[in-house]
Amino acid sequence: MADDRLEAYRGRRSRKSPEPEGRRRGSSRTAVFVVQEHQASTHHFDLRIEVDGVLKSWAVPKGPSTDPRDKRLAVAVEDHPLDYADFEGVIPEDAYGGGAVIVWDRGTYDNLTEKDGESRPVADALDDGHLMIALHGQKLTGGYALQRISGGERSKWLLIKMKDDEADARRRPTSTQPRSVVSGRTVKQVARTAHEDDD
Ligand code: MN
Repeated sequence: MADDRLEAYRGRRSRKSPEPEGRRRGSSRTAVFVVQEHQASTHHFDLRIEVDGVLKSWAVPKGPSTDPRDKRLAVAVEDHPLDYADFEGVIPEDAYGGGAVIVWDRGTYDNLTEKDGESRPVADALDDGHLMIALHGQKLTGGYALQRISGGERSKWLLIKMKDDEADARRRPTSTQPRSVVSGRTVKQVARTAHEDDD
């Protein structure tokens, strides 16, 4: 049950926080992905993909690249509820290092993973430590591979752009396209709004 798997998330989420409680249930619609930019104590991006009713999540310190030569570290973090994909705002200091969050990119994804010539379900691919997906976002499109490089609770993965028509070594979307695809705000603007509210 998704509710049981979200226990770690609820345990860490502060009750004061504007973040979603995680009550929305999954459905058979197309699976979503989101990349949130998070200005916490250390700035990073969070990649989340919908799998079996939850958002499997990784913290990606440098954010995703469109250059297949880049291997971006992605550290697995706890599953998040599906409605977290819509969250934009400020997390109180006592949860997740606090800080401002924007929906940097989002859309749907397709599973491209195969094993022995057969399509491999996403949950199984994650257990195997190797997942290939095609993103259909506003900033990120085309194939991405996630490859596990170390185990444990906070397992380490590499996020790598696959060589396809959407690969582009010259693009730097994390710096040239900094605005939220939902509100048009930058993460700094969202952080500033929170400080105004404190006054
Ligand atoms: Mn984060």
